[in-house]
Amino acid sequence: MIQQELRIYNSISKEKEVFNPITPGAVGMYVCGPTVYSNVHMGNCRTFLSFDMVFRYLRHLGYKVRYVRNITDAGHLENDADSGEDRIAKKARIEQLEPMEIVQRYTVDFHQIMAKFNALPPSIEPTATGHIIEQQRIVQEILDKGYAYEKNGSVYFDVMKFNEDQEYGKLSGRKLEDMIANTRELAAQSEKKNPQDFALWKKAEPEHIMRWPSPWSDGFPGWHLECTAMSTKYLGDKFDIHGGGMDLKFPHHECEIAQAEASSGISPVNYWMHANMLTLNGKKMAKSTGNNILPEELFSGNNNILSKAFAPTVAKFFMYQAHYRSILDFSNDALIASEKGYLRLMEAYGMIDSLKPGSTSDFDVAAWRQSCYDAMNDDFNSPILIAHLFDATKIVHAVAEGNQSMTADDIATLKQTMHDFMFDVLGLEAVGNAGDDSDTLDKTVGLLIELRNQARANKDFATSDSIRDQLAEAGVQLKDSKDGTTYTLK
Ligand SMILES: [Zn+2]
Repeated sequence: MIQQELRIYNSISKEKEVFNPITPGAVGMYVCGPTVYSNVHMGNCRTFLSFDMVFRYLRHLGYKVRYVRNITDAGHLENDADSGEDRIAKKARIEQLEPMEIVQRYTVDFHQIMAKFNALPPSIEPTATGHIIEQQRIVQEILDKGYAYEKNGSVYFDVMKFNEDQEYGKLSGRKLEDMIANTRELAAQSEKKNPQDFALWKKAEPEHIMRWPSPWSDGFPGWHLECTAMSTKYLGDKFDIHGGGMDLKFPHHECEIAQAEASSGISPVNYWMHANMLTLNGKKMAKSTGNNILPEELFSGNNNILSKAFAPTVAKFFMYQAHYRSILDFSNDALIASEKGYLRLMEAYGMIDSLKPGSTSDFDVAAWRQSCYDAMNDDFNSPILIAHLFDATKIVHAVAEGNQSMTADDIATLKQTMHDFMFDVLGLEAVGNAGDDSDTLDKTVGLLIELRNQARANKDFATSDSIRDQLAEAGVQLKDSKDGTTYTLK
């Protein structure tokens, strides 16, 4: 019997708490999705893959999970602030495209990248522009409750007023007095009563093309508002888990709490989860400094920090070798080490079917299986889980070499457990010999072999050699014999 008391580190209490969903057997989870104005970088991917693991593990435990992850397609201004240009509108202006062309392009790109990482799609993927009415309704509710004010067609959240009745800053641990003392923004230059106030609705400047009519002005919603509107619409005024990147804790998530409490009077989230950032060679990833890597560069090896291409599943394995709340440094050496570990794991898994069962077991499979659950139940501790999976590879080798013995039942349990955690929970894929993909691979390589044979028949050796060499680079080794050409995977 597996003990399944899951504990989740709650960013708001700063403690690991036993997970008790509001509705037994069901989980509502909201994760802040991407702002679709550019390609997602690896740092963004780490956040989404962390929550993919959470989603997968909750499902594995038998929960019915409604996972909502939004697409921000309006309202997210430069510098995460209340002034400046909308990120999508700016990109559209620079590229002379419609904003919705930008949105479409980068939404498709995001979905493709997530699919390459074998991340499951969320249950609902709502967009900010699809929920303008819901956002306006919340603005009105907050106005009616007296926690917001209108100025020149814009509506701002009154942080001071809210803080008189509730606590502003409880997630980030910031005190309003300190925020006021440390602020550099001059209130006199702004429509806001206080620099800490944030926009719920912004009147659109004449050049701002993404705009909607409202009782206050033709304008657009503040960035924080969409997540309050979409999370509560699909998960209820109170739901189980809200996730996002660590950088969203303040102000974004703090503002979400304030908006929900001001409108419905209910604190919206039971468990706040934040995934930590990915650094590159010890420095924060940022587009502006160029210290940045895109998933496509990783998959193609086309970035000067990389010595080779890495499969998406290897990059994912690398990320799960760190706990989601730890900072993880991305480097070529670390990826190469992870690739070795990943291959060792896959090799051992592939050996299980050929193990010869013995009459007794030298390995306590039940205790090992429990330890895998214990790792994941301890705030999704994937690095510890992976360490246990490596323990299994050692026993597989020992049994294969005849140094240890395992019964048929234990071998079956070992295989099932490795399968559950490697493929279902971590969502890894067997590169090159995945059951579902092997047919596709056979056909694809078969086609290339045929093209190479045609080139050779035409004495076009440059092409035939190039096909062979490029396949080798991709890990496919061609072998010619008098019976024809076969291939093996490196
Ligand atoms: Zn959000």
